[in-house]
Parts: sequence; C-alpha cells; structure tokens
Amino acid sequence: MFKPKTIYYEKEIENYNLGKELLEKYKDIPKIIIENHNNIEELRKKQNKEFPDLKRNLIIGIRKTHKFVENHKTSDYLVPYTSSGCTASCMYCYLVCNYNKCSYLRLFVNREQMVEKIIKTANNSNKKLTFEIGSNSDLILENTITKNLPWTIENFKNVEKGMLTFPTKFDMVDDILNIDHKGKVIIRMSVNPEEIINKVEFGTSRLKGRIEAINKLKEAGYKVGILIAPVIMVDNWKILYKELIKTLNQELSQKVKKEAFFEIIFMTYSYIHTKINEEAFPNAINLYNKELMKVRGRGKYMYKDELRKEGEIFLKEQMNKYFPNNKIEYIV
Ligand code: SF4
Repeated sequence: MFKPKTIYYEKEIENYNLGKELLEKYKDIPKIIIENHNNIEELRKKQNKEFPDLKRNLIIGIRKTHKFVENHKTSDYLVPYTSSGCTASCMYCYLVCNYNKCSYLRLFVNREQMVEKIIKTANNSNKKLTFEIGSNSDLILENTITKNLPWTIENFKNVEKGMLTFPTKFDMVDDILNIDHKGKVIIRMSVNPEEIINKVEFGTSRLKGRIEAINKLKEAGYKVGILIAPVIMVDNWKILYKELIKTLNQELSQKVKKEAFFEIIFMTYSYIHTKINEEAFPNAINLYNKELMKVRGRGKYMYKDELRKEGEIFLKEQMNKYFPNNKIEYIV
C-alpha cells in the first residue's frame, strides 16, 4: 500500500467530499499547501537522481482542463480523468513528459464534474461512444487510494450510449469484482515478459498477478483486452515475447481467450527518459540503442523501420499460432 512521504494540496480541495476524505485518511502525513498542482516550484527544482523520491509524494488538486481529445484506436475520446502520473516508475513511461512536472501521482477531487461531462457527451451523441479514461494514469492503482472506480462505474452504468475503457499494469482489482457494472467497462491489461517487468517496469504488478486479475475481471463479466505493450527490443526479444504469448495462451482463462482483443505497441523513448534514467536508475539497463532507433520528432526515438517490420511479422506469427481467433486491433 502506497504511503505518501508528503502531501501537496490545493486548499480548494477542502470543498469537495473526496478532498475531505483524503485529508482525513492522510491526517498523519506532512502536508504543504500549494497554489497550483501544475507548478510546484520546490519539486521542479529537484535533480534527476531524486526522481524515485519524487514519486513518493502525493499531489491533490482540482482538474481545471477538461478537453476531450478525439481518438481512433480503442476509443472515441481520450478523457482527462481523476488522476495523472503514477507511483510506479516504468523507465519508458510517456507521462514523464517534462522532467519533474508529471512524474508523481496527482489526484483530482472534482470527480462529479468530470463524470458529468462524459455522461452529457454520451447522451448528446447520436452513436455509441467509448471514452478512454485511463490515458493519464493507472486507474487500478489510483483506486487503491481513492476508491474512484466503484464510484465511477456506479454513476456511469446506466448511460445508454457510452462505454468506459482504461488500461492497467496492476492486479488490485478486487474492489470492482462484485459491483453491478452492466457491461459498460472494457479493461485492458498491459503485459510484458516477466524479465522486462523486473528490469524496466519498477513498482508494477508481476505478470502472474496481471493474468490472474484479467481472468477475475472476465469472470466478473467485464469486457477485456490485452495490450502487449510496450514491446521492447532487448537482445533476446524474440525468445521473451514468444514465451510471453505462449504463457498467455496457457494461463488466460477460456472465457478471456474466447473474447479478448489485442493491441500491440512498440516502445518509443525520449532524450528526457535517457537523462532521468541514467541518473535515477544508474544500475538499470539502457533502453536507448543508437543502432536500433531513429529520431521521431524533437528529442524522441522509435525503432527503425526494418526492425519494427521484423517485430510486427514475428509477433503476428506468434499470435496466429497461439491466438488465431482473437482480433489484433492495431500494431503501432
Ligand atoms: S504504470 Fe503506467 S502510468 Fe505508471 S509509470 Fe508505468 S507506464 Fe507510467
């Protein structure tokens, strides 16, 4: 269970039920009042090597920007929801956007306002819409602190023209197993070979736990998907990903195998990641490989086209072998 070192909070959270609950829950934790969760001067000044320590802070505020972004993958809109950032430290995390600004977990207590906007958008639409609510954080992790998921599902379950979806790398799903969700939620479990989880995805759940969690969620009637993401092309990547897909075939329940769809995403990386990781995790593996990667926009890297192509062909072959009847929504 995450125990924050310090809580930084906007005074206005005292006007919200969830804000009051969190202040009470953490009454023994040192607190600092801040003006704006987006700009905490003393945290911005921290050195890269202090990154793991920064992750031990919890920031609580009000979400002010509620802009939905159109999406054409597994949802219609990416929706800014109740949190941003995370307590874990995956070395490639794309939320690490700007050195020390986005790394730590930020909770937003104005959840009523956020869920109302989703419901209103769905009700005003003339077609069914799927809302991705987990693109800024990991909601299964967040839920261990806020219990926001049962609350969200309870408030959303009767919306006729809407579905909610989110990905996760965590296995703490018990809170949402015995609730009436009316099939309105699609949960996508993100998986990687155990060796990569150990070496790269610090602070997340083990592969075994993630597989058990998705089996439990399917048993509880949720729609589920599997994200093989991000695919990281370490030296022995073919062996690792072949073994992963085989393990999924062996350990996922029949119900999951019958219905789950897949998404496959190759890792992208950035100059900022290289800087933070070499100072914060000096003993960790180096994910940047000049031979294998090319520049994709300013300060960003992706695997070279030939290697991606090889990866795509290989993963499709393995999927054909072990999951011939499951749809791969996309490979990017
Ligand atoms: S679990 Fe997700 S949000 Fe958290 S550090 Fe890893 S990639 Fe980022």
